[in-house]
Amino acid sequence: MSGYDPWASGGLPYLNVAHICPATRALGPGLRAVLWVQGCCFRCPGCIAPDWIPRRIAHLMTPEEAVARLLAHPHVTGLTFSGGEPMLQAAGLAAVARLARRQRELSIICYTGFTLEQLRADPPGPGVEDLLQETDVLIDGPYVAALNDQRGLRGSANQRVHYLTDRLRGVDFEHTPRRIEIHLNEDYALLVGIPTSEQLAAFERTIVRLPSHRGPSTGAEGSAG
Ligand code: SF4
Repeated sequence: MSGYDPWASGGLPYLNVAHICPATRALGPGLRAVLWVQGCCFRCPGCIAPDWIPRRIAHLMTPEEAVARLLAHPHVTGLTFSGGEPMLQAAGLAAVARLARRQRELSIICYTGFTLEQLRADPPGPGVEDLLQETDVLIDGPYVAALNDQRGLRGSANQRVHYLTDRLRGVDFEHTPRRIEIHLNEDYALLVGIPTSEQLAAFERTIVRLPSHRGPSTGAEGSAG
C-alpha cells in the first residue's frame, strides 16, 4: 500500500485510524464507540492529542473492518468520530456511518476543527457533505485554550454544537460536567473524554510514573480540537 494517501482520497478505500475505543460513556450520551483518525491540518496550541496531528500512516483499515470493531460491543448505541481531523477522511467515515447503521440504530457525533460554514463553502476533501448527512451532532471550530471553560462536551467555548438532526436534540453538550475515563492497555494508557485542566494535569503526573506509556491521548476534538 505504498504511496497511499488517505487524506487525498478522503479515507476511501482505507481509513487511516489513530485509535478505536469500543465502549465509553465519556464522549456523548449512552454507551458509544469512538474512532479517532490520524492526521490533522490544524495545530491548535494546547491540543491534547498531538500524537494524532502528524500526517503519517497509523492503522489502515476498510470501513467494513472499522465497523466490525466499532460494533463489537452489543450495547453501543452511538458512534463518535474525532481525531486528528475527521473531515480530512470524510468519505471513509461516511461509509462507516452508513454501514454501521445497516446493522443497528445509532446516533453519530462528529468533532471538527473546521466551522460548519467552512465545510459547506469550501469542503477540505471528498465526502464532507456525505459525512454531514450522516451526522446528528457536529461540534465545530478549533480548540482555543484561553476559551476552555472546563465544562461541556466541547473543548472551548468558541466551539459550537450543531444539531443536524433531531436524534440528540435534548442533550446538553455545552454545560454538562466533563467526564473522563482512563483505559489501560498492555503498554499505554488512553485518556478518553474531554478533561478539565486539573484532570489532565493529574493524568500526566500519574501516567509518567508508569515505565511505558503512550498517553495522554484523547478523543476530545477541541480539548483536543
Ligand atoms: S485540537 Fe483537534 S483540530 Fe486542533 S490540532 Fe488538535 S486534533 Fe487538530
